[in-house]
Amino acid sequence: MKITFLGSGTSAGVPSIGCKCDVCCSGDPKNIRLRSSILIEHNNNNILVDTTTDLRMQVLANDVKNINAVLYTHAHADHIHGIDELRSFNYIQKQRIPCYGSKETIDKIRNMFSYIFSNDDEEMTREFRPMLDINIISSPFTLFDLKITPIKIFHGKMEIIGYRFDDVAYITDCSYIPEESMKALKGLDILILDALRFNPHPTHFSLDQAVEVARELKTKRAIFTHLTHHFDYNKVNEELPDNMELAYDGMVINI
Ligand SMILES: [Zn+2]
Ligand SMILES: [Zn+2]
Ligand SMILES: [Zn+2]
Repeated sequence: MKITFLGSGTSAGVPSIGCKCDVCCSGDPKNIRLRSSILIEHNNNNILVDTTTDLRMQVLANDVKNINAVLYTHAHADHIHGIDELRSFNYIQKQRIPCYGSKETIDKIRNMFSYIFSNDDEEMTREFRPMLDINIISSPFTLFDLKITPIKIFHGKMEIIGYRFDDVAYITDCSYIPEESMKALKGLDILILDALRFNPHPTHFSLDQAVEVARELKTKRAIFTHLTHHFDYNKVNEELPDNMELAYDGMVINI
């Protein structure tokens, strides 16, 4: 399995529009963060987690030639607003793309992008909208021989899902992990976890909270994502415990 970080940034992205802070102005490529998403390559298939606002730039930057399935964590704008870019992959692959998510997430996506799912508009022929097959998931399933387990987590008061892929987990947009989900995250080789900023936030883990969760889970390696402009990559990364690090756009892990 190969994991590529297509984006490691929070909802506003880094640099943030109009911001003149040291991180936004640093020019360091590791301080340039598109919206959070990963691509998992397994058995020659590409599984995309979330279709961010930046999806077009992300697939161009990482030379992604096909997308065989999409997993959704939740329906906030930064995780879904690139959905229309899937059209290009329908065109290249000449097939529909299966998408997976909780019932709540899928219902919201259907409402927000009704043009994709409605047959009412006759001018909206095939090439003008993504051709997607929607799947509602609530329990473990297998895609391309990879076992995928949805993990129930909380993003403020909203229940959303993270995913476990064998011994790797991707938990973004999270402020609380219930006990049963902590159990389901035992024995990980790699935990990719939300760590928004230094200060506490109502709907995301702070860096200290994320470090604490990684310690509690005794995960071998923790990688923090969904990062704001408060983190200068080099400074913050250096101070983290040995088995923990910040994600950056384009980071690749081979497992
Ligand atoms: Zn987000
Ligand atoms: Zn800034
Ligand atoms: Zn969110």
